[in-house]
Amino acid sequence: MSNSQPLAYQLSFWEQDTFFRDVDIVVVGSGIVGLSAALRARELAPSSRILVLERGALPIGASTRNAGFACFGSVSELLDDMSVHPEDAVWALVERRWRGLQRLRQRIGDARMRYESWGGYELFRPEEEDVFERCAEAIPVFNRRLKDLLGIGETFHLANEQIGKLGFRGVGNLLCNTAEGQLHAGEMVRALIELVRENGIEIYNGLGVQSLEDSGPGVEIITNYGWSFRAGRVIVATNGLAQHLLPSLPVRPARNQVLITAPIPGLSVKGCFHYDRGYYYFRNVDGRILLGGGRNLDVEGETTSEFGTTPLIRSALVKLLQELILPGQPVVVDSWWSGILGVGGRKSPIIAPISDHVVVAVRLGGMGVAIGALVGEEGAELLLGHGA
Ligand SMILES: Cc1cc2nc3c(=O)[nH]c(=O)nc-3n(C[C@H](O)[C@H](O)[C@H](O)COP(=O)(O)OP(=O)(O)OC[C@H]3O[C@@H](n4cnc5c(N)ncnc54)[C@H](O)[C@@H]3O)c2cc1C
Repeated sequence: MSNSQPLAYQLSFWEQDTFFRDVDIVVVGSGIVGLSAALRARELAPSSRILVLERGALPIGASTRNAGFACFGSVSELLDDMSVHPEDAVWALVERRWRGLQRLRQRIGDARMRYESWGGYELFRPEEEDVFERCAEAIPVFNRRLKDLLGIGETFHLANEQIGKLGFRGVGNLLCNTAEGQLHAGEMVRALIELVRENGIEIYNGLGVQSLEDSGPGVEIITNYGWSFRAGRVIVATNGLAQHLLPSLPVRPARNQVLITAPIPGLSVKGCFHYDRGYYYFRNVDGRILLGGGRNLDVEGETTSEFGTTPLIRSALVKLLQELILPGQPVVVDSWWSGILGVGGRKSPIIAPISDHVVVAVRLGGMGVAIGALVGEEGAELLLGHGA
């Protein structure tokens, strides 16, 4: 099932013969994963006909609706992960996020997606002293590990001297991650779309896929308009919406609500900030604050693929903005939106064949900007038999 309005009609002979004939590869979903998959498929199969199908006028999932943190894990989050997953698996995921980011930067170029290396920070309230102590203790070990793994030195350090300058209230301790960056999510996706088109790949917007039937030599793609066409192979990159097409996949949608303020004269906040175990995140953008999160306040209600914001989470975000981030300053919220994450019991993405001619590359979690390019590329490699 797709969220697009169904409008029943049949394709004319001309439409069928022109747009949907001899299709080799279909990518479902035009987020960072789908677009990266399409680009990699082009490299591996230069003369193939590749279509990207997207239910929205724009990609409408997470890739153009996120916070634009180019991050690979805060200290507390990595420690949390290590308490439930083997340490090596956590570091392997960190390495993949890092490699994914480098791949994205290499493909697009920093200037085109307004990538800035302004660092990332983790905030701790005074009552979180014990968590902070554990994090501070882990820093030397983590820095050594990151040096070995990624070749980057002194990644994490204490940054309490900056709390005053940043103007926060109620923050006891601050950790800095020097290797974290930020980017403009809209420009990132636009650049990927342009690259896809430059590579002779067609994108069809407003075309939701209703179901897939892998039968005979290829896959029948049934659209939400009622008509269908065939393609040789399909890669499904629908992330949080994956269960609409493939109900048994262990991926569920998780909505995240976001606000952006009006421009704030003299704003001193610069960088990406993680707060309350990563449940809240904020950053500067063009003299404004972008702030999101609070899903933990209503996990059940936010397990949805419907867009929207709720009074509960809106008021929690505004409170955080007024009390902690910009205390004592008049703040105007310019706009609100939401995006849909794909999450599951494990943090690692699912890149797997689900039938002879269909591969999925989904469940990107909260760091898909980092790992997305790699996941898309690996999905395409699996589809075309070039996997590791
Ligand atoms: C509010 C928010 C903040 C975030 N902040 C960050 C951050 O700062 N840093 C970070 O690394 N990550 C962040 N993320 C996560 C990151 O954005 C995602 O992990 C990543 O964008 C996922 O990319 P994707 O291509 O897998 O999925 P998506 O971008 O969701 O793309 C899937 C696409 O598939 C389309 N689709 C779905 N079903 C169908 C269908 N049946 N037919 C056709 N098309 C379909 C959708 O319309 C959508 O465009 C955030 C996410 C949200 C929601």
